[in-house]
Amino acid sequence: MTDKSRKWQFETRAIHSGDVPEDGTHSVTTPIYLSSTYKVAYPGDESGYVYSRWANPTRQALERALATLENGTHAYAFSSGLSALDAVLKLLKAGDHIVAVDDLYGGSMRQFEQVARNFNLEFSYVDGRKPEAFEKAIQENTKLFWLETPTNPLLQLVDIQAVTQIGKKHNILVGVDNTFATPYIQKPLELGADIVLHSASKYLGGHCDVIAGALVTKDAELAERIRFNQYAVGGQLGPFESWLVLRGLKTLSLRMERHAINAQQIAEYLETVDIVKKVYFPGIDGNTVPNKMRLPGGMVSFSINADFETVKKFVMSTELFVLAESLGGVESLVNHPASMTHASIPKEVREERGIDDGLVRLSVGIEHIDDLLIDLRNAFTAIRTMVKTS
Ligand SMILES: *Cc1c(COP(=O)(O)O)cnc(C)c1O
Repeated sequence: MTDKSRKWQFETRAIHSGDVPEDGTHSVTTPIYLSSTYKVAYPGDESGYVYSRWANPTRQALERALATLENGTHAYAFSSGLSALDAVLKLLKAGDHIVAVDDLYGGSMRQFEQVARNFNLEFSYVDGRKPEAFEKAIQENTKLFWLETPTNPLLQLVDIQAVTQIGKKHNILVGVDNTFATPYIQKPLELGADIVLHSASKYLGGHCDVIAGALVTKDAELAERIRFNQYAVGGQLGPFESWLVLRGLKTLSLRMERHAINAQQIAEYLETVDIVKKVYFPGIDGNTVPNKMRLPGGMVSFSINADFETVKKFVMSTELFVLAESLGGVESLVNHPASMTHASIPKEVREERGIDDGLVRLSVGIEHIDDLLIDLRNAFTAIRTMVKTS
Protein backbone atom coordinates (compact mmCIF):
# COMPACT_ATOMS: atom_id res chain seq x y z
CA MET A 1 0.00 0.00 0.00
CA THR A 2 2.01 3.01 -1.16
CA ASP A 3 0.95 6.28 0.36
CA LYS A 4 2.16 9.58 -0.96
CA SER A 5 0.17 11.44 1.70
CA ARG A 6 2.58 10.32 4.40
CA LYS A 7 4.44 13.63 4.19
CA TRP A 8 1.43 15.43 5.65
CA GLN A 9 0.51 15.89 9.29
CA PHE A 10 -2.06 13.66 11.04
CA GLU A 11 -4.94 16.14 10.67
CA THR A 12 -4.35 16.50 6.94
CA ARG A 13 -3.94 12.78 6.39
CA ALA A 14 -7.16 12.10 8.31
CA ILE A 15 -8.98 14.18 5.71
CA HIS A 16 -7.14 13.19 2.51
CA SER A 17 -5.63 9.74 2.75
CA GLY A 18 -9.02 8.12 2.14
CA ASP A 19 -9.43 9.88 -1.21
CA VAL A 20 -9.78 7.48 -4.14
CA PRO A 21 -8.34 7.95 -7.64
CA GLU A 22 -10.39 10.07 -10.03
CA ASP A 23 -13.10 7.90 -11.61
CA GLY A 24 -14.40 10.38 -14.17
CA THR A 25 -17.01 12.01 -11.92
CA HIS A 26 -14.75 14.63 -10.23
CA SER A 27 -16.36 13.68 -6.92
CA VAL A 28 -14.73 15.47 -4.00
CA THR A 29 -15.72 12.81 -1.48
CA THR A 30 -14.97 9.11 -1.77
CA PRO A 31 -17.78 7.33 -3.65
CA ILE A 32 -19.57 4.35 -2.09
CA TYR A 33 -18.85 1.49 -4.50
CA LEU A 34 -21.58 -1.06 -3.89
CA SER A 35 -20.61 -3.50 -6.63
CA SER A 36 -19.99 -7.02 -5.35
CA THR A 37 -18.15 -8.02 -8.51
CA TYR A 38 -16.09 -6.41 -11.29
CA LYS A 39 -15.63 -6.94 -15.01
CA VAL A 40 -12.30 -8.60 -15.78
CA ALA A 41 -10.38 -8.38 -19.06
CA TYR A 42 -9.79 -12.09 -19.58
CA PRO A 43 -10.41 -15.34 -17.64
CA GLY A 44 -8.18 -15.35 -14.59
CA ASP A 45 -7.45 -11.60 -14.73
CA GLU A 46 -6.63 -10.45 -11.18
CA SER A 47 -4.95 -7.16 -12.09
CA GLY A 48 -7.84 -5.03 -10.80
CA TYR A 49 -10.86 -5.50 -8.57
CA VAL A 50 -12.44 -8.94 -8.87
CA TYR A 51 -14.90 -9.52 -6.04
CA SER A 52 -15.66 -7.34 -3.00
CA ARG A 53 -14.86 -9.96 -0.38
CA TRP A 54 -11.32 -9.70 -1.74
CA ALA A 55 -11.20 -5.92 -2.19
CA ASN A 56 -13.64 -3.04 -2.55
CA PRO A 57 -12.56 0.51 -3.49
CA THR A 58 -14.45 2.22 -0.64
CA ARG A 59 -13.22 -0.26 1.94
CA GLN A 60 -9.69 0.07 0.59
CA ALA A 61 -9.88 3.85 0.90
CA LEU A 62 -10.69 3.43 4.59
CA GLU A 63 -7.94 0.85 5.00
CA ARG A 64 -5.44 3.22 3.41
CA ALA A 65 -6.50 5.99 5.80
CA LEU A 66 -6.30 3.74 8.87
CA ALA A 67 -2.88 2.39 7.89
CA THR A 68 -1.42 5.87 7.52
CA LEU A 69 -3.02 7.27 10.69
CA GLU A 70 -1.53 4.46 12.81
CA ASN A 71 1.82 4.84 11.01
CA GLY A 72 1.40 1.30 9.74
CA THR A 73 1.58 -0.05 6.20
CA HIS A 74 -1.46 -2.32 5.99
CA ALA A 75 -4.97 -2.13 7.42
CA TYR A 76 -7.98 -4.40 7.11
CA ALA A 77 -11.51 -3.22 7.87
CA PHE A 78 -13.86 -5.68 9.56
CA SER A 79 -17.58 -5.80 10.18
CA SER A 80 -17.00 -5.13 13.91
CA GLY A 81 -14.25 -4.78 16.48
CA LEU A 82 -14.96 -8.29 17.68
CA SER A 83 -14.72 -9.78 14.19
CA ALA A 84 -11.30 -8.08 13.96
CA LEU A 85 -10.38 -9.72 17.28
CA ASP A 86 -11.51 -13.08 15.90
CA ALA A 87 -9.16 -12.50 12.95
CA VAL A 88 -6.28 -11.92 15.39
CA LEU A 89 -7.00 -15.25 17.09
CA LYS A 90 -7.04 -16.91 13.66
CA LEU A 91 -3.33 -16.11 13.38
CA LEU A 92 -2.86 -18.72 16.13
CA LYS A 93 -3.34 -22.47 16.34
CA ALA A 94 -5.18 -24.78 18.76
CA GLY A 95 -2.99 -25.27 21.82
CA ASP A 96 -1.52 -21.75 21.73
CA HIS A 97 -1.56 -19.56 24.84
CA ILE A 98 -2.43 -15.87 25.10
CA VAL A 99 -1.58 -13.50 27.97
CA ALA A 100 -4.04 -10.60 28.15
CA VAL A 101 -4.60 -7.64 30.47
CA ASP A 102 -7.21 -8.51 33.08
CA ASP A 103 -9.17 -5.25 32.81
CA LEU A 104 -10.41 -6.14 29.35
CA TYR A 105 -13.41 -5.02 27.30
CA GLY A 106 -16.22 -7.38 28.38
CA GLY A 107 -16.93 -8.56 24.83
CA SER A 108 -13.28 -9.43 24.22
CA MET A 109 -13.27 -11.45 27.44
CA ARG A 110 -16.49 -13.22 26.36
CA GLN A 111 -14.96 -14.13 22.98
CA PHE A 112 -11.81 -15.47 24.66
CA GLU A 113 -13.55 -17.42 27.39
CA GLN A 114 -16.76 -18.62 25.77
CA VAL A 115 -15.74 -19.08 22.13
CA ALA A 116 -11.97 -19.31 21.66
CA ARG A 117 -11.49 -21.75 24.54
CA ASN A 118 -13.68 -24.22 22.62
CA PHE A 119 -11.01 -24.16 19.90
CA ASN A 120 -8.39 -25.06 22.47
CA LEU A 121 -6.77 -21.65 22.86
CA GLU A 122 -5.57 -20.95 26.40
CA PHE A 123 -5.75 -17.60 28.19
CA SER A 124 -4.09 -16.06 31.23
CA TYR A 125 -4.87 -12.58 32.56
CA VAL A 126 -2.43 -10.25 34.26
CA ASP A 127 -2.42 -6.77 35.77
CA GLY A 128 -1.43 -4.68 32.76
CA ARG A 129 0.14 -2.00 34.95
CA LYS A 130 2.99 -4.39 35.71
CA PRO A 131 4.90 -5.27 32.51
CA GLU A 132 6.90 -7.93 34.38
CA ALA A 133 3.62 -9.80 34.99
CA PHE A 134 3.54 -10.60 31.26
CA GLU A 135 7.00 -12.15 31.44
CA LYS A 136 6.04 -14.22 34.50
CA ALA A 137 2.92 -15.55 32.74
CA ILE A 138 4.84 -16.84 29.71
CA GLN A 139 4.46 -20.56 29.01
CA GLU A 140 6.14 -22.73 26.38
CA ASN A 141 3.08 -22.24 24.13
CA THR A 142 2.61 -18.48 24.61
CA LYS A 143 2.17 -16.83 21.21
CA LEU A 144 0.39 -13.54 21.88
CA PHE A 145 0.26 -10.69 24.40
CA TRP A 146 -3.04 -8.82 24.20
CA LEU A 147 -3.21 -5.28 25.59
CA GLU A 148 -5.76 -2.58 26.03
CA THR A 149 -4.65 0.83 27.23
CA PRO A 150 -6.29 2.76 28.73
CA THR A 151 -8.19 -0.28 29.99
CA ASN A 152 -11.93 -0.55 30.23
CA PRO A 153 -13.59 0.48 32.51
CA LEU A 154 -10.85 1.33 35.05
CA LEU A 155 -8.71 3.32 32.60
CA GLN A 156 -5.46 1.78 33.80
CA LEU A 157 -2.42 2.49 31.67
CA VAL A 158 -0.14 -0.15 30.22
CA ASP A 159 3.45 0.64 29.25
CA ILE A 160 3.20 -0.60 25.67
CA GLN A 161 6.93 -0.22 25.04
CA ALA A 162 7.92 -2.28 28.07
CA VAL A 163 5.55 -5.10 27.13
CA THR A 164 6.62 -5.17 23.48
CA GLN A 165 10.26 -5.42 24.57
CA ILE A 166 9.38 -8.55 26.57
CA GLY A 167 7.40 -9.86 23.60
CA LYS A 168 10.33 -9.37 21.21
CA LYS A 169 12.74 -11.10 23.60
CA HIS A 170 10.53 -14.19 23.69
CA ASN A 171 9.30 -14.07 20.08
CA ILE A 172 5.71 -13.39 21.15
CA LEU A 173 3.37 -11.23 19.06
CA VAL A 174 2.00 -8.13 20.77
CA GLY A 175 -1.43 -6.78 19.87
CA VAL A 176 -2.91 -3.55 21.22
CA ASP A 177 -6.60 -2.66 21.25
CA ASN A 178 -6.27 1.08 20.60
CA THR A 179 -10.01 1.80 20.65
CA PHE A 180 -9.97 4.10 23.70
CA ALA A 181 -6.93 6.17 22.78
CA THR A 182 -7.22 6.31 18.95
CA PRO A 183 -4.13 6.96 16.79
CA TYR A 184 -4.47 10.69 17.48
CA ILE A 185 -3.46 10.03 21.09
CA GLN A 186 -1.12 7.05 20.85
CA LYS A 187 0.41 4.93 18.07
CA PRO A 188 1.20 1.43 19.40
CA LEU A 189 3.04 0.34 16.24
CA GLU A 190 5.62 3.06 16.92
CA LEU A 191 6.04 1.66 20.43
CA GLY A 192 6.85 -1.80 19.08
CA ALA A 193 3.43 -3.48 18.83
CA ASP A 194 2.85 -5.88 15.93
CA ILE A 195 -0.89 -5.41 15.51
CA VAL A 196 -3.35 -2.65 16.41
CA LEU A 197 -7.05 -3.38 16.75
CA HIS A 198 -9.89 -0.87 16.60
CA SER A 199 -13.52 -0.97 17.34
CA ALA A 200 -14.26 1.78 14.80
CA SER A 201 -17.77 1.78 16.24
CA LYS A 202 -16.35 4.13 18.89
CA TYR A 203 -14.13 7.22 18.34
CA LEU A 204 -13.08 6.53 14.74
CA GLY A 205 -16.69 6.52 13.52
CA GLY A 206 -17.42 9.00 16.28
CA HIS A 207 -21.17 9.47 15.89
CA CYS A 208 -22.72 6.27 17.31
CA ASP A 209 -24.01 5.34 13.87
CA VAL A 210 -21.83 2.46 12.67
CA ILE A 211 -20.48 -0.91 13.81
CA ALA A 212 -17.00 -1.48 12.41
CA GLY A 213 -13.56 -2.81 13.28
CA ALA A 214 -10.03 -2.82 11.92
CA LEU A 215 -6.59 -4.35 12.22
CA VAL A 216 -3.44 -2.40 11.35
CA THR A 217 0.15 -3.60 11.07
CA LYS A 218 3.46 -2.66 9.49
CA ASP A 219 4.68 -6.25 9.22
CA ALA A 220 4.20 -7.37 5.60
CA GLU A 221 4.20 -11.07 6.44
CA LEU A 222 1.59 -10.64 9.17
CA ALA A 223 -0.46 -8.42 6.85
CA GLU A 224 -0.49 -11.12 4.19
CA ARG A 225 -1.77 -13.69 6.69
CA ILE A 226 -4.51 -11.35 7.92
CA ARG A 227 -5.48 -10.50 4.35
CA PHE A 228 -5.60 -14.17 3.33
CA ASN A 229 -7.61 -15.14 6.41
CA GLN A 230 -10.09 -12.32 5.84
CA TYR A 231 -10.51 -13.44 2.22
CA ALA A 232 -10.88 -17.07 3.28
CA VAL A 233 -13.12 -16.49 6.32
CA GLY A 234 -15.07 -13.23 5.82
CA GLY A 235 -16.03 -10.48 8.22
CA GLN A 236 -15.26 -7.60 5.83
CA LEU A 237 -16.74 -4.17 6.39
CA GLY A 238 -19.44 -3.15 3.91
CA PRO A 239 -18.98 -0.15 1.57
CA PHE A 240 -21.50 2.10 3.30
CA GLU A 241 -20.06 1.43 6.75
CA SER A 242 -16.57 2.01 5.35
CA TRP A 243 -17.71 5.38 4.09
CA LEU A 244 -19.22 6.32 7.46
CA VAL A 245 -15.95 5.57 9.24
CA LEU A 246 -14.00 7.48 6.58
CA ARG A 247 -16.22 10.48 7.21
CA GLY A 248 -15.76 10.14 10.96
CA LEU A 249 -11.98 10.07 10.62
CA LYS A 250 -11.94 13.50 9.01
CA THR A 251 -12.88 15.17 12.31
CA LEU A 252 -11.09 12.75 14.65
CA SER A 253 -8.40 15.19 15.75
CA LEU A 254 -10.88 17.99 16.55
CA ARG A 255 -13.18 15.64 18.39
CA MET A 256 -10.41 14.06 20.48
CA GLU A 257 -9.16 17.49 21.56
CA ARG A 258 -12.61 18.47 22.80
CA HIS A 259 -13.35 15.07 24.34
CA ALA A 260 -10.14 15.35 26.36
CA ILE A 261 -10.72 18.95 27.52
CA ASN A 262 -14.26 18.12 28.65
CA ALA A 263 -13.22 14.85 30.32
CA GLN A 264 -10.41 16.55 32.24
CA GLN A 265 -12.82 19.13 33.66
CA ILE A 266 -15.35 16.46 34.57
CA ALA A 267 -12.69 14.33 36.29
CA GLU A 268 -11.57 17.37 38.29
CA TYR A 269 -15.17 18.14 39.26
CA LEU A 270 -15.84 14.53 40.33
CA GLU A 271 -12.81 14.64 42.61
CA THR A 272 -14.57 17.38 44.60
CA VAL A 273 -17.85 15.44 45.08
CA ASP A 274 -18.04 14.08 48.64
CA ILE A 275 -19.96 10.90 47.79
CA VAL A 276 -17.49 9.94 45.04
CA LYS A 277 -15.06 7.37 46.42
CA LYS A 278 -12.57 7.29 43.57
CA VAL A 279 -12.09 8.83 40.14
CA TYR A 280 -10.40 6.84 37.37
CA PHE A 281 -8.86 9.01 34.67
CA PRO A 282 -5.46 8.88 32.93
CA GLY A 283 -3.19 11.49 34.40
CA ILE A 284 -4.73 11.90 37.87
CA ASP A 285 -4.19 10.23 41.22
CA GLY A 286 -0.80 8.72 40.46
CA ASN A 287 -2.15 7.14 37.28
CA THR A 288 0.86 8.24 35.28
CA VAL A 289 1.28 8.07 31.55
CA PRO A 290 4.26 5.86 30.74
CA ASN A 291 3.14 5.13 27.23
CA LYS A 292 3.40 8.46 25.50
CA MET A 293 -0.26 9.39 25.28
CA ARG A 294 -0.58 12.93 24.01
CA LEU A 295 -3.97 13.46 25.69
CA PRO A 296 -5.84 11.65 28.47
CA GLY A 297 -8.79 10.75 26.22
CA GLY A 298 -12.52 11.19 26.75
CA MET A 299 -13.40 8.39 29.18
CA VAL A 300 -13.88 8.96 32.91
CA SER A 301 -14.93 6.33 35.45
CA PHE A 302 -15.78 6.90 39.09
CA SER A 303 -17.10 5.01 42.02
CA ILE A 304 -20.04 6.30 44.08
CA ASN A 305 -20.13 5.41 47.73
CA ALA A 306 -23.65 3.94 47.52
CA ASP A 307 -25.68 0.79 46.91
CA PHE A 308 -26.97 -0.50 43.58
CA GLU A 309 -30.41 1.18 43.83
CA THR A 310 -28.83 4.57 44.44
CA VAL A 311 -26.33 4.24 41.61
CA LYS A 312 -29.14 3.04 39.35
CA LYS A 313 -31.08 6.19 40.19
CA PHE A 314 -27.99 8.29 39.44
CA VAL A 315 -27.44 6.87 35.95
CA MET A 316 -31.16 7.31 35.22
CA SER A 317 -31.21 10.92 36.45
CA THR A 318 -28.98 12.55 33.86
CA GLU A 319 -30.60 14.38 30.98
CA LEU A 320 -27.68 14.85 28.59
CA PHE A 321 -25.62 11.79 29.48
CA VAL A 322 -27.61 9.06 27.77
CA LEU A 323 -27.78 5.73 29.61
CA ALA A 324 -26.33 3.43 26.96
CA GLU A 325 -23.59 0.96 26.15
CA SER A 326 -20.78 2.00 23.81
CA LEU A 327 -18.65 5.12 23.82
CA GLY A 328 -16.69 7.50 21.65
CA GLY A 329 -19.52 9.42 20.02
CA VAL A 330 -20.05 13.18 19.98
CA GLU A 331 -22.91 12.66 22.46
CA SER A 332 -22.15 11.97 26.14
CA LEU A 333 -23.09 8.54 27.46
CA VAL A 334 -23.29 7.08 30.94
CA ASN A 335 -22.86 3.37 31.63
CA HIS A 336 -23.09 1.13 34.67
CA PRO A 337 -20.40 -1.49 33.92
CA ALA A 338 -21.49 -4.05 36.54
CA SER A 339 -24.96 -4.42 35.02
CA MET A 340 -24.24 -3.38 31.41
CA THR A 341 -20.94 -3.63 29.53
CA HIS A 342 -19.24 -5.95 32.02
CA ALA A 343 -22.25 -8.02 33.15
CA SER A 344 -20.87 -11.10 31.34
CA ILE A 345 -17.89 -11.19 33.74
CA PRO A 346 -18.59 -13.30 36.86
CA LYS A 347 -19.48 -11.10 39.87
CA GLU A 348 -16.57 -12.28 42.07
CA VAL A 349 -14.03 -11.68 39.29
CA ARG A 350 -15.54 -8.29 38.56
CA GLU A 351 -15.53 -7.09 42.15
CA GLU A 352 -12.03 -8.36 42.76
CA ARG A 353 -10.94 -6.01 39.95
CA GLY A 354 -12.83 -3.00 41.33
CA ILE A 355 -15.83 -3.15 38.99
CA ASP A 356 -18.35 -3.01 41.84
CA ASP A 357 -21.96 -1.80 41.90
CA GLY A 358 -20.85 1.76 42.66
CA LEU A 359 -18.80 2.14 39.48
CA VAL A 360 -20.05 4.48 36.76
CA ARG A 361 -18.36 5.01 33.39
CA LEU A 362 -18.78 8.19 31.36
CA SER A 363 -18.06 8.63 27.69
CA VAL A 364 -17.69 12.39 27.72
CA GLY A 365 -19.01 13.94 24.53
CA ILE A 366 -18.24 17.25 22.86
CA GLU A 367 -21.23 19.22 24.18
CA HIS A 368 -20.62 22.49 26.08
CA ILE A 369 -18.80 21.67 29.31
CA ASP A 370 -21.11 23.88 31.43
CA ASP A 371 -24.15 21.86 30.36
CA LEU A 372 -22.40 18.58 31.11
CA LEU A 373 -21.35 19.74 34.58
CA ILE A 374 -24.87 20.96 35.40
CA ASP A 375 -26.25 17.61 34.25
CA LEU A 376 -23.96 15.68 36.59
CA ARG A 377 -24.63 18.06 39.48
CA ASN A 378 -28.38 17.54 39.07
CA ALA A 379 -27.94 13.75 39.07
CA PHE A 380 -25.92 13.92 42.31
CA THR A 381 -28.63 16.11 43.83
CA ALA A 382 -31.22 13.50 42.86
CA ILE A 383 -29.51 10.80 44.93
CA ARG A 384 -28.19 12.85 47.82
CA THR A 385 -31.03 11.98 50.23
CA MET A 386 -30.71 8.29 49.33
CA VAL A 387 -27.02 8.30 50.19
CA LYS A 388 -27.66 9.95 53.57
CA THR A 389 -30.37 7.48 54.57
CA SER A 390 -28.71 4.36 53.17
C1 LIG B 1 -16.53 -1.88 21.69
C2 LIG B 1 -15.17 -2.43 21.90
C3 LIG B 1 -14.76 -3.59 21.24
C4 LIG B 1 -15.68 -4.39 20.35
O1 LIG B 1 -15.99 -3.70 19.18
P1 LIG B 1 -17.38 -3.85 18.38
O2 LIG B 1 -17.22 -2.91 17.26
O3 LIG B 1 -18.48 -3.52 19.32
O4 LIG B 1 -17.43 -5.29 17.95
C5 LIG B 1 -13.47 -4.02 21.45
N1 LIG B 1 -12.63 -3.36 22.28
C6 LIG B 1 -13.00 -2.25 22.93
C7 LIG B 1 -12.03 -1.57 23.82
C8 LIG B 1 -14.28 -1.74 22.77
O5 LIG B 1 -14.64 -0.65 23.45
